[in-house]
Amino acid sequence: METIRTIAWMKEIAREARQEQRIIGFVPTMGALHAGHLALVERAKKECSPVYASIFLNPKQFGPHEDLSRYPRPLEADIDKLTIAKVDGLFLPEAGEIYPHDFSTYVHVEGLSERLEGKTRPGHFRGVATVVLKLFEIVQPHYAYFGRKDAQQVRILQQMARDLNLDVELVVCPIVREADGLALSSRNTYLGTEERRAATVLYRSLKAAAEELATGARDSMELRRTIHKVLEKEPHARLDYVEIVDAETFEPVVHVRRRCYALLAAYIGKTRLIDNMLIEPAGDELHVEL
Ligand code: AMP
Repeated sequence: METIRTIAWMKEIAREARQEQRIIGFVPTMGALHAGHLALVERAKKECSPVYASIFLNPKQFGPHEDLSRYPRPLEADIDKLTIAKVDGLFLPEAGEIYPHDFSTYVHVEGLSERLEGKTRPGHFRGVATVVLKLFEIVQPHYAYFGRKDAQQVRILQQMARDLNLDVELVVCPIVREADGLALSSRNTYLGTEERRAATVLYRSLKAAAEELATGARDSMELRRTIHKVLEKEPHARLDYVEIVDAETFEPVVHVRRRCYALLAAYIGKTRLIDNMLIEPAGDELHVEL
């Protein structure tokens, strides 16, 4: 696997691949790779050649009091994982390559960026949208692969792609979970033993709501209350938000009828984790995807 550190070189490689009529797949990440990232790579490999991944710990999507400085950076292990996964190239730029000192242009997807994650993390999605647009311009992918774990992020990026007429299709992949239901996340490494056990409460609370949906419940308040109750019983957990939102607008819904997400964010100790479930109408029934 080739490691590409400059924008000029990455653009050149992508330009050649496009000239040869090849289909470029792209998996952007912040590193500390786990099976969730590798599932995106695997899907990309099935649909595209070449497949490029990027590792860039984007400073612009972290708030001043967030975990940028302690975010895990196991670069050698990451490179091994991508090599084994047969990624064709790793785009690995320095922060100064992406943001020269006079950098001053940002992408802001209005409305969608202010709610939920955007409320707790002001400026977060502006940082995400800006870097992803830059990465798209550099890597020139036909298809880019994202996890449903960050449902609001991918919805915002889809809006950006639509609004700015980008020639890239975003592919949304399922959430990869540990055997006990915890969604894989680079931040799970922050959890101590007790916290790791407690962290399954996000999944358990969503599962409780899913069970209630299966018995016919459709009222958002009721479903949110169920999620609250499960979380309240876990002393290591502190809820940030739980919302049932329309999958398009990310506005709260009163009744679950259309395609929706149940989204939640909670602190386990000092670690902030997010999770969600997708609720889709399937005939007269609802199909739930955790
Ligand atoms: P990150 O490195 O956290 O920026 O994540 C890079 C990509 O991997 C994003 O599209 C995430 O949504 C996706 N991702 C992270 N965790 C998971 C997971 N557990 N399952 C599926 N995709 C994931």
